[in-house]
Amino acid sequence: MAPTKQLVLEAIKAVDSGRIASKFNAISRIGSTESGLNRLAYSESNKEALDLVTSWMREADLEVGIDPICNVFGTTRGAGKGKSVLTGSHIDSVIDGGRFDGTIGVVAGLECMRVISELGLRTKSQIELVVFAGEESSRFAFGTIGSKAIVGDLRIEQLYRLKDHDGLVLADVVRRFGGDPDRIADCRRKASEIGSMIELHIEQGPVLERIGKSIGVVNDIVSIDRLVLKIQGETIHSGGGLASMRRDALAGAAEVVLFVERMNKRYPNIRATAGNIQASPGTLNAVPGSATVGLDLRVLGDRRKYLAFLRLGVRRICQKRKLTFEFANVFHQDAQRMSRRIIGVISKIAREMKLDPYRISSFGGHDSLVIAKVAPVGMIFVPSIRGISHNWNESTDMKHVRLGTQLLLASLLDLAGLS
Ligand SMILES: [Zn+2]
Repeated sequence: MAPTKQLVLEAIKAVDSGRIASKFNAISRIGSTESGLNRLAYSESNKEALDLVTSWMREADLEVGIDPICNVFGTTRGAGKGKSVLTGSHIDSVIDGGRFDGTIGVVAGLECMRVISELGLRTKSQIELVVFAGEESSRFAFGTIGSKAIVGDLRIEQLYRLKDHDGLVLADVVRRFGGDPDRIADCRRKASEIGSMIELHIEQGPVLERIGKSIGVVNDIVSIDRLVLKIQGETIHSGGGLASMRRDALAGAAEVVLFVERMNKRYPNIRATAGNIQASPGTLNAVPGSATVGLDLRVLGDRRKYLAFLRLGVRRICQKRKLTFEFANVFHQDAQRMSRRIIGVISKIAREMKLDPYRISSFGGHDSLVIAKVAPVGMIFVPSIRGISHNWNESTDMKHVRLGTQLLLASLLDLAGLS
């Protein structure tokens, strides 16, 4: 057996699931509440968890750095001069979220780094473990903040414009967290510095579990559009307003919600969700004259086709009810294919490990999608029990986490090249 192959096998064997579990349990306590994990972007619990990860990075003999938006990097020492190989994920959560989303990728990455330094492995390229700042959009209705800063997709004006529910400005929040919003440009990493990246993440859907696979290799990440639909009718008295007179915007919005649900059932390559609804004036003595529906559309394929289909459905509903409507597209992210080369590396190693990897599409957005703008990126998915995510019941079998970590480690070593 070639000496490098022997070293990789030793490294895989050294992955310690007990160590992964104890770190995971320790970090999971931070931000845990009765209703779920509440470790919102740039919150105190986020800071506490980040400090813990930073201390673990130092324990693993990594060189620790933090950029002005508060992405944290732990880099292997003594590597050659090649471009960096990145791994990592996020440790912030949604409101009442689960413990595994993001965090498991960071804990798995830490275990990889720990094994690398314990075995004294030297690589041609340095490997960096990244904890991306502000991945979830729950707090500022804007996500993947850290990775956007890395690829130069975040402007200072945005930091001063975005506010959370309490009216706190993102720039101030970043500053209080220890960052420096005015130096956002310094976060930018040149494409020439990043050779590749692999993120390990939970699937957040039921596919792998249903087909009995331990590992998914992500093919592509869907496009995401978030739309606000405003429907206009006429406000009239709930007593005096006869059925024939009514142009009830809320009833129209309700029909749209059901249309979106049907659309979601009909096309397996999309996810269409009506996530919220508001009626105005919102009192019981008036027929609602206007209503707003928040929509999330994720498409694997031609997004314009499904956006047009949605628009057509809404138009029909509104015409029938003599309502008018307008759409505002408040967020858009293009679909992203993962790198063929990285998919090839991960799949080959997974087959050698007899893991029978399954090629899967991601319907969730990730930091990987953003980093893919400047570097070849791949993702490893581990199964989510019952497909549940963004929920306290989110879970993944630790056996799958161990396999995913071993695959991540071997793939990182392959990309970084043992010297
Ligand atoms: Zn995530």
